[in-house]
Amino acid sequence: MSQPPSVRQPIPVGKYFLERGRISEQQLELALKHRAEFGLKLGQSLVELGFVTESEMVEALRYQARFPCIHLTSGIIDLHVARKLGEEVSRRLRALGLNQFAGHTTIALQDPSDDEALEELAHILATRIFPVYAEPSVIAKNIELVFGGGKTTKSAKPAARAAAPSAPKAAEPARTAPVEKAAGDGEAVPDERAVVERVRTLLQDAFTQGVDVIHLEARRDGMSVRFRHDGALREHSRLPSAWARQAIACLRALAKLDAAEDERAREGSIPFTFRNEPLELRVVLTPSLHGESVVLHVLRGQGPRRQLRDLGLDGSQQAQLEEALSARGGLVLVSGPAGSGCTNTLHAMLAHLVAPDRKLVALEERIAFEHEGVLQVARERGAGGLASAARTLLRQDPDVLLLGEIDGRETAQVAVEAARSGTIVLSKLRASGAFEALTSLRHLGLEPYLLADALRCVVAQRLVRRVCHECKAPIVPDELLRARLGSPKDGAAFFEGEGCAACNGTGHRGRLALFEVLSVTPGLRHELEKGAEREALAQAARASGFTTLREQGLRQARQGLTTLHEVLAATARP
Ligand SMILES: [Zn+2]
Repeated sequence: MSQPPSVRQPIPVGKYFLERGRISEQQLELALKHRAEFGLKLGQSLVELGFVTESEMVEALRYQARFPCIHLTSGIIDLHVARKLGEEVSRRLRALGLNQFAGHTTIALQDPSDDEALEELAHILATRIFPVYAEPSVIAKNIELVFGGGKTTKSAKPAARAAAPSAPKAAEPARTAPVEKAAGDGEAVPDERAVVERVRTLLQDAFTQGVDVIHLEARRDGMSVRFRHDGALREHSRLPSAWARQAIACLRALAKLDAAEDERAREGSIPFTFRNEPLELRVVLTPSLHGESVVLHVLRGQGPRRQLRDLGLDGSQQAQLEEALSARGGLVLVSGPAGSGCTNTLHAMLAHLVAPDRKLVALEERIAFEHEGVLQVARERGAGGLASAARTLLRQDPDVLLLGEIDGRETAQVAVEAARSGTIVLSKLRASGAFEALTSLRHLGLEPYLLADALRCVVAQRLVRRVCHECKAPIVPDELLRARLGSPKDGAAFFEGEGCAACNGTGHRGRLALFEVLSVTPGLRHELEKGAEREALAQAARASGFTTLREQGLRQARQGLTTLHEVLAATARP
């Protein structure tokens, strides 16, 4: 291959290594993915993944002759120029000012093609920039030399580049100038990289599979890694004990938690971008018999089911809910056990109500989803509680108040008062179904007439696992199952997944929500005012077409979307 003109595009880095048999197609593909995920250049990504060394990268760039590649030694650094650029900028852009000459500043960068960085540098120094390439570890080492050690290296984009190899270095406060040891031959400490790579792969697996919770549990013989996915827990892999400590140190560093044994340093969060979707890992560390265990909750800020119509309500349920939300004021409740998707529904309702002519406020223990146009407040733990915080927020005169949860008599009272005085109040109540929610509210001491006046609608819900589309097969339910489900129609086809590669042998893939929507119709309101018992309430609800969770579940099972066993398990009531 002849040397093409210098205007050629930078893609040949991958080709260069491929042609030399230095990397495989598969490695290139991995590196391209890694690059996209962490916003890197291909070269950086190949080095980070350990597929090529920094010095091989220098060779490749030399070959390409796109930028001068220099052998950076402290002797060629003009300290005056380096300091002019400043420590913060140097560390952030991983750039080091070398010298100034004829209106140009020579700057060593690990990525001399980064136009944004070059523009910023030109702006700061008010000169033209002459970018040169130097090995990242050598730049880092010299940044330490110029600006002094004692500080751990900061990543330019800690969020996006979370599990990059620079992370665990920050996790080891004992090493004041971590790069120094690694520098020289351009090789990082191998096992450290391996651990980071392992953590990165693990997180990537979890994100790709849409896992909700990652459990890292310290065991006598190492660390077990388990994923909770669609409600079910399964083992992903195991880490040797020696790796476990480093993996935790890496996660601590990413969550910016002190390594000190400090109670306050047990919870944190790591922001991520995965396939252009912002997500957050909420980290909870717990000391246990065999060492520290970690739980990572994956929070997807821009969840796919954000609109009412995407929740899985049937046509009539959605219409009832929309009607309840269109009223001026009133209480709309979502109920279900933990992990049944209530928060998602609550926020879909909030999103439905966002409008420029409405004032919306949301009060939660933790902000689950962010909304444009909503004043969102996180309640501090133990600081007066939800009720008093809600009272304060109501002084803002909101049209809509999202109250994270009705957790006691006081919040119930605030919610009802606000709903009766013209605010639409959306809240959550831990109860197994719509009627059970009514009973709970009564047990909290609400007067029946107040409740009847405030309440517009109760939505109860459950999540069931979907049948895997790839391996689903018809089944004939046995008599016992039929009997337990209240004998669904004879001859109806039902389905189960047989287990395949697509569903990791579970027969399930994804989840869907079952709903019951109880609208407070005039008939039901009348019964509520009287303080009627469940039977009478149910009868009034039936009269206006109310369907139960179980009925909804059977409907979905008949359509082959879920299994009878799932429906049975999800809708069994105490
Ligand atoms: Zn399958």
